[in-house]
Amino acid sequence: MNIAFQQGIEIIERLEENGHEAYFVGGSVRDTLMDRAIGDIDIATSATPEEIQAIFPKTVDVGAEHGTIIVITTEQESYEVTTFRTDGNYTDNRHPDEVIFVKSLEEDLKRRDFTMNAIAMNKHGKIIDPFDGEKDINRQVIRTVGKAKDRFREDALRMLRAVRFASQLSFSLEAETFLGIQADNALLENVSIERKTIEMEKLILGQGVKFGLELLVATGLHSFLPLLDGKKEQLLKLGDVPLYRLNNRSPVWTVLAYGLKIDKAEVEDFLVSWKLPKKIVKSVAENLLLMDKIQHQDWQSEFVYRAGLERSLEAHQVMVVLGLDEDTSKKKIYELFENLPIYSLKDIVFDGHDLMELAGGKRGKWISEILSDMEMALIYEETKNERAALKEWVYNWLQKYDRDY
Ligand code: ATP
Ligand code: MG
Repeated sequence: MNIAFQQGIEIIERLEENGHEAYFVGGSVRDTLMDRAIGDIDIATSATPEEIQAIFPKTVDVGAEHGTIIVITTEQESYEVTTFRTDGNYTDNRHPDEVIFVKSLEEDLKRRDFTMNAIAMNKHGKIIDPFDGEKDINRQVIRTVGKAKDRFREDALRMLRAVRFASQLSFSLEAETFLGIQADNALLENVSIERKTIEMEKLILGQGVKFGLELLVATGLHSFLPLLDGKKEQLLKLGDVPLYRLNNRSPVWTVLAYGLKIDKAEVEDFLVSWKLPKKIVKSVAENLLLMDKIQHQDWQSEFVYRAGLERSLEAHQVMVVLGLDEDTSKKKIYELFENLPIYSLKDIVFDGHDLMELAGGKRGKWISEILSDMEMALIYEETKNERAALKEWVYNWLQKYDRDY
């Protein structure tokens, strides 16, 4: 068994010693069966949240009412341990009205979304698979546990989850699952935007994003996502962009805003409608502005100076992924930054006091004017950041603008 399960096995053993059942479930079991790198390891158990908390010394209650407790084993590792449960009635297409703790693993697996996600594994690596999930994994299909229509009406987010798994795993949707989504796609509107944003980002970063976006459009789900209605052509075109090369949220949303041809004036509304944090909205706006400048004037030291290294690298990554800049290497961006003569006004060896001294103590707007011109003269290497050179440059400036300060 994968080494990552080792500490999980210890958790399962502790639960068993205390008279409970416990299994690995969800994504980690699916990914192991597929020989894929695993993400988080989830454990399902017959123990109640209170019993889990009593057994382990370090726990975090992240939703005891839903049965979930995080068990912390080391500084780096923690595991989600969830009580076997079934969901009560769903009346709003997003939450169960109540969560009922149960004693049987099979009942717990039955409430899970897709057969590939409804497989359990015991501490010896034995697979418990009542819905033939492994068969579907081998056939590379995504199929709901039970009737697609019912399952999507319970929680409409599952429709978008199906498409994001298709994008991540390059699996197709089994016919009833696909048709179920197509028939009830509008229910997606009842789901909170925060949950949709998480799935959308995973979809965009999937290895099979071209297929994922095709499915998003073919199921019609895109029409029920913020400001994507009417963007069918642009979404399909984005499928040709190697989006999986992006590694962060702000480049992802920059590529989306650019690729979907969102009007400059509407970019902020677009991002806010996905409820993205202010920091990302700001980064995307800065990326787009910088990209615009570079497309008109190519990379200039001034842009890297003003934007800083991190922003420049991000805008560069986005442009490379979008095929907008084939000539500039990442190394070149580092070089431009490293070769900057100054990184801020503070680095200039000649300051406002020196200027005033030169001018016999006269204050005025001219000081900030001359400093900002001096800053650019340094960036464009028209002078050197040395006192004698700068003094001469100041005399020339005064002459040029005919100032008698
Ligand atoms: P990932 O590797 O992306 O984390 P995952 O399969 O672990 O994929 P999670 O969102 O972490 O997905 O959910 C963990 C498990 O919980 C799923 O495998 C599935 O069994 C169950 N699950 C999650 N969301 C739902 C849902 N909306 N409806 C039913 N079951 C769900
Ligand atoms: Mg997971």
